[in-house]
Amino acid sequence: MTGAIDLQEPSATSPSRPTTLRAAILDPAAIERKLALNTYNVDMTRAHIRIIDTDVCLQCERQQCINCCPANCYAPQDDGHVLFSYEGCVECGTCRIVCNVFRNVEWTYPRGGFGIQYQFG
Ligand code: SF4
Repeated sequence: MTGAIDLQEPSATSPSRPTTLRAAILDPAAIERKLALNTYNVDMTRAHIRIIDTDVCLQCERQQCINCCPANCYAPQDDGHVLFSYEGCVECGTCRIVCNVFRNVEWTYPRGGFGIQYQFG
């Protein structure tokens, strides 16, 4: 299978890659390695996702966007706000779903020609 981590056999070309399922699950860098295979054409003139009212996040006890975004686009701030950066977004839609109490995420796809370009489709 193209692009998949072989969980059974050690990798001769990259010995630092996890070689067992347990190691792959516990490997915090695995998602970063996969994301690094993609390319982005960031639209610097238009954020396709935004937090509608950043003060609303102060009322949100769970702030699930921080935990659920696979690209770490949401970062907690010391004052309780959430900082959002759309540049590394993989357009999965998770943040749109998990912000279901306050519905404080305005979500659209990037304009044509912008956004993530997946290496393996
Ligand atoms: Fe993160 Fe997915 Fe939301 Fe993009 S769409 S910000 S990758 S959760």
